[in-house]
Amino acid sequence: MTPMPRDGGSGGTDRRRYRFPKGMRPSTLEERRKFYEREFNLKAVENWLKWRDIANTAFAVIVGRHSDIYPPEYRDIKRKAVLIDEHKGLGDVLEYILQYLPEGVYYDRNLYSDLSFCVKKGCDYKNCWECENFLGQELAFNIDPENVKCPYHGSVEDKMKRGEGLSFCMLEFKKVRKFTLELYEELKAEFREVRIVFSGRGFHLHVLDKKAIKLSKEERGEIAKAYSSYAIDEWVTNGEMRLIRLPYSLNGLVSRICLPLRIKDVAKFDPRKQAIPSFLPLSLHRNSRASSFQL
Ligand SMILES: [Zn+2]
Ligand SMILES: [Zn+2]
Repeated sequence: MTPMPRDGGSGGTDRRRYRFPKGMRPSTLEERRKFYEREFNLKAVENWLKWRDIANTAFAVIVGRHSDIYPPEYRDIKRKAVLIDEHKGLGDVLEYILQYLPEGVYYDRNLYSDLSFCVKKGCDYKNCWECENFLGQELAFNIDPENVKCPYHGSVEDKMKRGEGLSFCMLEFKKVRKFTLELYEELKAEFREVRIVFSGRGFHLHVLDKKAIKLSKEERGEIAKAYSSYAIDEWVTNGEMRLIRLPYSLNGLVSRICLPLRIKDVAKFDPRKQAIPSFLPLSLHRNSRASSFQL
């Protein structure tokens, strides 16, 4: 479940505190710029997305929904998903990213034969399942640590009540890591191409088989229910939420790179030590930095 914090609207005093594992904290605008200018691996993104038609893939950015850090000119849209549906490829997408310096970058899991058809029609993309250019949707699972019940921090409802819906601890992380491996095994019994991506807080599983892409909304709803014990966001799997974080982009809430992982590397993956962008000096992770970061 993805919580939607309220807008504070009190002139910068609404910046929220989050509790993350050691070394994880929101990125500044300058750090986001540095990352996308110098470190963002566009070739790797292209390679990751090469099974789909990139020119007919929609992308999106969210400027500052959870971090409340955003370029001042985008204040009014800081919480919105800004759609990038008119581009000629990843080079154009990068230009938009450098313009918005977003907290997060996403792509639309829907597959379209010709995206410009929806642009011309003025689609809101939620209802494109009915569009004549709609080819299907990549099946995905989002496993997030807040959905795990923690002996210290309670259930997701407890965390939401305290306004800590995005905070997480290593106990919760280790549980979602285990769930990810278990769900992977289950999915591999049914599908051929299943990919695992560290999202910055938890994990994403992407299923690229044709039969998965062709699933109806109803079938997706059943799959989401069947696997709900793995702390997944049902609305990602059931197709309601079509956007998913773009691999190799920066998760600006925690300052970690959204990173595809080999299956053998998942069991030991540690977000305190891995997927760290170069704007965070390594020394930060050796000393005893406070685990809860206040902006
Ligand atoms: Zn459409
Ligand atoms: Zn916890």
